[in-house]
Amino acid sequence: MSDRLSRPERRALVREDEGLLSMPVNIGGDSRRVEAQIRHLVGLFRSDRSASPSSDVMAHILGIFDKTTPVSTNAKVACKRGCAHCCYQRVTILAPEAFAIANYIRSDKDKIAAIIQTHQQTKGLSEEQRRHARVPCPLLNEAAACSIYAMRPTGCRGAMSLDVNACIAAYVDLKNTGIPMPIDHIKTMNVMRMILSAAMTLVQLPITGFELIGAVAVALSENAEQRWRSGENVFASVDVDSSTPPVFLAQVDGMARRVAPTV
Ligand code: SF4
Repeated sequence: MSDRLSRPERRALVREDEGLLSMPVNIGGDSRRVEAQIRHLVGLFRSDRSASPSSDVMAHILGIFDKTTPVSTNAKVACKRGCAHCCYQRVTILAPEAFAIANYIRSDKDKIAAIIQTHQQTKGLSEEQRRHARVPCPLLNEAAACSIYAMRPTGCRGAMSLDVNACIAAYVDLKNTGIPMPIDHIKTMNVMRMILSAAMTLVQLPITGFELIGAVAVALSENAEQRWRSGENVFASVDVDSSTPPVFLAQVDGMARRVAPTV
């Protein structure tokens, strides 16, 4: 007996998904909202009408990320425009995030030059070495604001602090102290990354974590996204982050298995 949906079942699911897709994801609640998002991203990844499926995927999931972040979280955090203490550290992203950022800045020659230069400066540095090197992210602008704010990756979106003094201690004074973060926001970031990773698993794209600047530098090269989608290891020269916890990967695998019969 097949696990796959019949046509009427699929039509009913499409109708149900339409109602769920624009809603915030209710963390820890009804899993249908998460599964609808995964199915939608799979459809975007598979589209042959888009010049950059990754850009479409990221525009959608980042919109849902922002929608899911409770207003109460934004009200209590210390983060504000022009405060960029955390933008001097290593950030890990997935390949679609790199392609989406590359497309976002492709016409900005100065920014591209800054990315290439920073990549040369920071390539091979561990997370700790990078923190001590105090090299600013080349995507910061003169006003110490993120120049790709709308397209900033999930890791940056998830980095919210409840105490600016803790940020200064950790990122400026380089003390080994922690940053108090809103736990609901960390959960939101993790669920968004899981949704993205589960969709990538279902379309058989590798869910490797890469260092942000190196990955964007590669993503800017000619036809990089098409080559990556065809299976070429275009990120071979980029520092990889292998610290993803097995429990995260197991949850992604579980999500992908649940959704597989419906895509
Ligand atoms: S991408 Fe934006 S938010 Fe992230 S480190 Fe760079 S400047 Fe900061």
